[in-house]
Amino acid sequence: MLSTTKEIFSSTRGAIAAFNWYNMETAKAISTAANECKRPVILQISESGIRYMGIPCLKGMMSAILEITKVPVAFHLDHGSSIESCIQAISLGFSSVMIDKSHEQLEKNIEYTKQVVDYIKKHNINTSVEAELGTLAGIEDDINVDEKDAVYTNPDVAKRFAEETGIDSLAVAIGTSHGAHKGKTKSPKLDIERLIEIHKNTQGLPLVLHGASGVSHDDINICNMYGAKIENAFGITDDDIRAAIQHGVKKINIDTDLRIGYMAALRKGLHENNSSIDVRKLLTMSSDRMREVAVEKIKLFDCN
Ligand SMILES: [Zn+2]
Repeated sequence: MLSTTKEIFSSTRGAIAAFNWYNMETAKAISTAANECKRPVILQISESGIRYMGIPCLKGMMSAILEITKVPVAFHLDHGSSIESCIQAISLGFSSVMIDKSHEQLEKNIEYTKQVVDYIKKHNINTSVEAELGTLAGIEDDINVDEKDAVYTNPDVAKRFAEETGIDSLAVAIGTSHGAHKGKTKSPKLDIERLIEIHKNTQGLPLVLHGASGVSHDDINICNMYGAKIENAFGITDDDIRAAIQHGVKKINIDTDLRIGYMAALRKGLHENNSSIDVRKLLTMSSDRMREVAVEKIKLFDCN
């Protein structure tokens, strides 16, 4: 059943997993994981993911996902770069869009974000809007307070941003980052004190963590055992994820963990079936590992 992220946030305890998808294997892995856990899920796709699939395949697979899933699902545009991109996603039936102007000056970020919110209101469309404040970048382990203030979300600005834009959820920068290298020598520590301030200032607005993968060393080791070279990879700890959920985080984006699981199973499968040319057999193994990782994440986020 298609729902907006806003509807899912208000009717579900804990945080909702938002997984990136871009092909049949990811679509099936995420859908079956959500069914297995009997928890709503957010299927999000980036602009490059949409280009990769192409609109006809995307549309067909969206309808297939709605047929497969027995739980509320939201289709979300991840990191929409323009108002046009958000409007296109809405016309394709997405129930949630992100307008990401976090790299612009604050005034511009507010202006663009408000335009998307106003468009949805004006046309009476049932779609949620997410925006981002702060910079998600890989950071040094020993970052100091001033450096933190320059890149992380400012709680006072978050209050103004939420009030002026009327968004449904806000992505915050508190120490997560995209990719498999979130820390140089260890897992980064999230700035939970800052999150508490943001949560207080934004009065219950659902908060979003991007780049929140745990980066399983078991799967990394399997990748490396079978020919990959992924070094110094560190993710967010489960304890930090639980703490973030306690303080207002309702949507947690996971892409890297699913990719690593997929690659681990694919590399192992190729090695162990080196006389096979059955693509379906290999991709079934990959999709299945992806489903297992998704189930672990959905269960981890089911806490208050
Ligand atoms: Zn992101």
